[in-house]
Amino acid sequence: MKVHEYQAKELLASAGVAAPAGVVITRPEEAAAAYEKLGGGLVVVKAQVHAGGRGKGVAVGPEVDRATALAIASGKLPRPAGMAKGVQLVESAEAAVAAAQSMLGKTLVTYQTGEAGQTIAKVLITVGHNIVRELYLGLAIDRATQSPVLMASTEGGVEIETVAATAPEKIHRETIDVGVGLASFQARKVCKALGLSGDTAKKGEVFLKNFVKLFIEKDCSLAEINPLIVTEAGDVMALDCKINFDDNALFKHPDVAALLDPAEEDPNELRAGKSGLSYVSLDGDIACLVNGAGLAMSTMDLIKYHGGEPANFLDVGGGATKDQVLEGFRILLSSTTVKAVLVNIFGGIMKCDVIAAAILAAYDEIDFRVPLVVRLEGTNVEAGKKLLADSGRKIITADGLTDAAKKVVAAAKG
Ligand code: GDP
Ligand code: MN
Repeated sequence: MKVHEYQAKELLASAGVAAPAGVVITRPEEAAAAYEKLGGGLVVVKAQVHAGGRGKGVAVGPEVDRATALAIASGKLPRPAGMAKGVQLVESAEAAVAAAQSMLGKTLVTYQTGEAGQTIAKVLITVGHNIVRELYLGLAIDRATQSPVLMASTEGGVEIETVAATAPEKIHRETIDVGVGLASFQARKVCKALGLSGDTAKKGEVFLKNFVKLFIEKDCSLAEINPLIVTEAGDVMALDCKINFDDNALFKHPDVAALLDPAEEDPNELRAGKSGLSYVSLDGDIACLVNGAGLAMSTMDLIKYHGGEPANFLDVGGGATKDQVLEGFRILLSSTTVKAVLVNIFGGIMKCDVIAAAILAAYDEIDFRVPLVVRLEGTNVEAGKKLLADSGRKIITADGLTDAAKKVVAAAKG
C-alpha cells in the first residue's frame, strides 16, 4: 500500500525524523490561510498523488494532449512557459493560491504516471527551505540478504535509477539487522559517506536511526527520502518522502491501513479485494481467471511465451465459488481493452464439475462479448469438460496449459 507524501511526513515526524511542517488543502482559496499559518516567507506547494517526478511533471487540463504532456515531463520536449509544475515555490499568499489553483482538479503527468496521469485532489502547502546540499536515502528489502538495506547517496534530487545505472559506486549500502535496527557504527559510516560532519552528522545519525526504526516497526516494503537536505543552519531534513507498506502486514497496523486513499487505487483492485480475490491490473489484452498465485504466475508466463500479453492477474483462491467466479468475470469484462478471457483452474479440493457449473452459471449471467477459453485439470476433470462441451455455449475448451495459452492468444488476435 502506498501513502501520500504528507502522510509519510507525518509518520516521519511522529518517529522523530525531521520533516518540514505542512498543511493539506483541497480548495485553492485555502492556500492563503495555510501560507499565513506556516509563517509566510518561502513556501512550497506540492501536488499529492501516489507518484514521483512531480517537480518535473506538468499539471494539465483536458485541453492538453497527454502524449505531449508526458514528453515534456520526461524532458523530451521543452516546457512551454506558463505550464504548471507539480511542485512550486512561492513567496506570497496570492502566489500560493495561484499555485494551488494551477494544480487542484488538474491531471498531473510525470515520467512515473505515464500518459494517463493522476488527478490532483489534494495539495500540500509546506515550509520552504534553502537547500545547501541535496542527498538521497532509500530503504528497501534486499532479497539476497533477506534484510532491509539502507541506501545513501550524495546524488540527491535526481532519479536514483540513473545514479544506479551510471555511477553505482556513489550509492553507499548498509544491511540492517531487524533485531537491532541501524547500529551506531553504521549510522556513522552512512553520515561519513554523505559528507556530514560535526553537529550535522550527530543530527544525521539520529535521523537515520529513527528512519530505519520506523521502517521496521511499520513493516514498510520501500521508503525513499529524495531529497534529504542539509539546511543553512546545518540541519538535516526530509524534503520529500515516499513510503510503501507490506499489504500482508497491514492487519498489524490499523493506523497505517486507515491512511489508504481509495481515489489513488485501481478501482478494480479495490473491488476484487472486497470479494476475497487477488487482482492486479496489467497492460495486455488477455484476461486470466486462475486459482492459486503460483498457477496465475505460470499462466501469465505461458501467455507471454506464446506471444500474448496478460491484461491482469486474478487469483480466485483455492475455493472458486460461483459468486467469486461471477464477480471475477465482471471485473475482467469491465475493462474495455480485454479481447479474450482464459480460465485456468486446477480442481483439487474443489471438483472440476462443480467449477464447470459455476463457470456456466456465471457465463449466462454476464454478457460475454469476448472469446472464453477454459482449461480444467484435477478431480472429476472429465465430468467438468463434458458439462462445458455439452452446454451449447461458445466456450473454447483446452487440454493442458500450452494448448490453453495457444488458443487464448489466437482468440485475442483473431
Ligand atoms: P518529486 O519530484 O515528486 O520527487 O518531488 P520533490 O518533493 O522531491 O520535489 C522536487 C524538487 O523540488 C526537489 O528535488 C527540490 O529541488 C525542490 N524543492 C522541494 N521543496 C523545496 C524547498 O523547500 N526548497 C527548495 N529550494 N526546493 C524545494
Ligand atoms: Mn523527490
